[in-house]
Amino acid sequence: MTSTVKVGRSKKVIIQLLTYAMVAIMSCNIGEAQTLIPPLDVTIRFDDNYDLDDQLREWAELAAATVKEQYPFLIAMLDSEGYKPPGSVKIIFSNLLSGGAGARIRNGVGEILISYNLKEEILEGDQIRNLGYMIHELVHVLQGYPSRDSVDWWVREGIAEYFNFFWYQRISDISWVNPETAKYNDGYWITAAFFDWIVRTKDASFIKRLNAACREGNYSIEQFKVLTGMSVDELWDEFIQSFN
Ligand SMILES: [Zn+2]
Repeated sequence: MTSTVKVGRSKKVIIQLLTYAMVAIMSCNIGEAQTLIPPLDVTIRFDDNYDLDDQLREWAELAAATVKEQYPFLIAMLDSEGYKPPGSVKIIFSNLLSGGAGARIRNGVGEILISYNLKEEILEGDQIRNLGYMIHELVHVLQGYPSRDSVDWWVREGIAEYFNFFWYQRISDISWVNPETAKYNDGYWITAAFFDWIVRTKDASFIKRLNAACREGNYSIEQFKVLTGMSVDELWDEFIQSFN
């Protein structure tokens, strides 16, 4: 029994990895992206005197290296005609946010803000999960939408979390989605799991094309139908049925 489960799981993981490889091939030429895109300039800033904290500084350097490393891949995955990504990003530990992390672009420079209140979680929590927060925020820096309100919030957050969970962390177990209560517009990991399913079963370039439509100011809920031939409700129903 146990071995059957194991075989089933590893098979699922292999299928998942093959899907990511297919997504990468269909979405971009990663080798080309790496040579054409200049390396990202990443700086770290600590508001007030927080740079006195060696442990946090060490983590910040790891976060900066991760952001730098993932940047060309994410650019390639989110590329669209005429898009010019910010060439520099500042990682700022700040008291501006009471909790969590956020992203914005100021004078053409991407900023990833991290609340100092996250310090304990960052230093003691799961490292991949915490670096995943940086991927989520980096995606926000690269989404390039005309304005914050031009796209439904759950789409914006679902795309960012898709790259965190399914691209960076390579999560394949989505048992945390409750098919009885979940809805596509719950945002974050629920929407991300839905998008991942669309990528795997309908169209490997779905996220790239959806993001391009959002970036070009063409987002509406109808985009799901335009991109996949199915409405968001039809897609969601099929996704929920896949849990049976
Ligand atoms: Zn977000």
